[in-house]
Amino acid sequence: MFSEQKTVAFHTLGCKLNFSETSTIARNLLDNGYQRVEFNQPSDVYVINTCSVTANADKECRTIVKNAMKANPNGFVVVVGCYAQLKPQEIAEMEGVDLVLGATEKFNIVEYLDDLNKQEDTIIHSCEIEDADFYVGSYSIGDRTRAFLKVQDGCDYKCTYCTIPLARGISRSDTMENVIKNAREIAEKGIKEIVLTGVNIGDYGKGEFGNKKHEHTFLELVQELDKVENIERIRISSIEPNLLRNEIIEFVSNSDRFVPHFHIPLQSGSDVILKKMKRRYLTKLYQDRIGKIREVMPNACIGVDVIVGFPGETDELFLETYNFLNSLPISYLHVFTYSERDNTEAIEFDGVVPHHVRKERNKMLRILSEKKRLAFYQTQLGSTHKVLWESDQKNGKIHGFTENYVKVETEFSEELINQTEIVDLVMISPDGNVQVAKKPVLAF
Ligand code: SF4
Repeated sequence: MFSEQKTVAFHTLGCKLNFSETSTIARNLLDNGYQRVEFNQPSDVYVINTCSVTANADKECRTIVKNAMKANPNGFVVVVGCYAQLKPQEIAEMEGVDLVLGATEKFNIVEYLDDLNKQEDTIIHSCEIEDADFYVGSYSIGDRTRAFLKVQDGCDYKCTYCTIPLARGISRSDTMENVIKNAREIAEKGIKEIVLTGVNIGDYGKGEFGNKKHEHTFLELVQELDKVENIERIRISSIEPNLLRNEIIEFVSNSDRFVPHFHIPLQSGSDVILKKMKRRYLTKLYQDRIGKIREVMPNACIGVDVIVGFPGETDELFLETYNFLNSLPISYLHVFTYSERDNTEAIEFDGVVPHHVRKERNKMLRILSEKKRLAFYQTQLGSTHKVLWESDQKNGKIHGFTENYVKVETEFSEELINQTEIVDLVMISPDGNVQVAKKPVLAF
């Protein structure tokens, strides 16, 4: 009977990968008779998918558990995700948490939900991260306009600041057939844009463990996805510069589906720091990649991840990063402040940067980012683009993105949602978005 149907609510922290995995867990539970409700509603089960990247993972998790308890004090609270894999004990000690599932167990959640009575002690089912050597494919539909399609998981790199390999395990990837099948399913749902996600997606297909043992490269994956009909746009979310080969850049430049938007982690513009981070490239390679993109796609949007305050980043070395970024024809930055993580090499490094300095540097780069973004938008004014309108409505406006990731706005209209339209980019609005002049006919 409907009234006996159990309910489940989800809260996801962190990256796109987590969002796509929450969707898979949700589908699993819905297939097993659960009904999904909003997180602030009374629910039988609450699933919190955590992240370990943010500095306040514990605080964040605690607050969300409290919110769940507020919505239903008898709700059964399950915590999964990267933080759950790294610090299961810490989570188990939080009041209200009933079950903590590690990296291998999160996809078997149904098996752990036979008894939803809250017990005195929290149950932990964790694993050694070495056991996380199998692959679970997933995708999530963010809103009606785009889906995040997971193609790869884990990482074999050993960047000295990063806990992701500890939380997610070795690099492994989905089979080509499965990715294509998922992409077709997404297309059938009328979703117009796919964002490829993974921890290190350029590493797709490489290696000899578990499910990642297959011969296909990331370029081949891109070539096959390009043939999937009824998907208007595919975005490569983030790719390591050393793995973004020129062939990939060239293929994207000639593709009608892959959009001219790249997000390429740099992390530091100083070779000294890059070596200490154990990144697999130096600034010269990075500069060459950006040069190649600009050569074949002058209007491409290029986003950059950068970390400030890594141990040993003196004022001079930070300035090197600043000047390097300033000199590059890039479009925006995602700025992260270094924070110490247990079980990483960098936590032992000398040259700790005081927190107030880290904060100042973060601010400087955020200002630079804004400057870069506006300069990029300026270069696009007067040109014609295809925009995919989203579903949000703010102050009577609807927003969308062009293929090359310019955020545009126009008067809200219900019928524009999830439609593509050819527009002229006219001027930058006071909110920093671009206002458009419309062509009269919708382009489906
Ligand atoms: S490439 Fe480096 S930073 Fe990225 S997930 Fe792998 S180890 Fe972490």
